[in-house]
Amino acid sequence: MASSKTRGIRYSLELVKPKAALARAGSIAVIAGGETLHVFGVKHPPHVALANLLDDEKAALKFVESYGPLFASKEYLWKNGQARDLLPLSPNESVHELLKEHPKADFYHYGISHLHQQRDVLRKAWEGDRAAIESIRQHASANISSQWKFNRGRIDITAPDAWTVVCILFLIDHESRNTVKCENPDCPAPYFVRKRRTQKFCEAGPCVAYGQRLRSNKWWNEHGNEWREQAQKKSSRRAK
Ligand SMILES: [Zn+2]
Repeated sequence: MASSKTRGIRYSLELVKPKAALARAGSIAVIAGGETLHVFGVKHPPHVALANLLDDEKAALKFVESYGPLFASKEYLWKNGQARDLLPLSPNESVHELLKEHPKADFYHYGISHLHQQRDVLRKAWEGDRAAIESIRQHASANISSQWKFNRGRIDITAPDAWTVVCILFLIDHESRNTVKCENPDCPAPYFVRKRRTQKFCEAGPCVAYGQRLRSNKWWNEHGNEWREQAQKKSSRRAK
């Protein structure tokens, strides 16, 4: 029998950030070989960032700068030391302008709209859509690998790109039923991971304040009359 003290497998998950990323007219060029990011416990995890991604080019560029391409090419992975075989890069028509400016880029995003398509799949899953959750589960199963080599008692799980990391992180939080939407209708980034079962609002200042206001209104509706009666009795007693 294995040690009864073993509580399961400890694992680590990392991705390699790009050295640089540049956006032009709806496309993004990426240069490989930046620092390694250990994704567990980061302040801004990539699944939350993608689910809340805004529609503009600046937001898309920031995402790619922080986590790398959503779906990386073999060439990009090879330069990052994440793939063994090198396949030739074949840039799409839409990135020709970018290619002129940055001929040495290792990867090109063929239109930022692609990022938004994947974001929308993730949002559906976050909202509980079974087909979207299933497609995320299938992608994660097909694309993660581990070599059963232990590094200080942990197994290193290798994910080829940001989308796979997003899928894994989403599944972990979804299984523990913590992927929820902030109930403040004006929340600019409503997809969040709750820390307590009863948490209805994300941790942004205005949303916390909105929740407090709602709770105090509820208190007034339930106990307001009672409180006013008590207060009146007290003041009439004092007046005597
Ligand atoms: Zn919020």
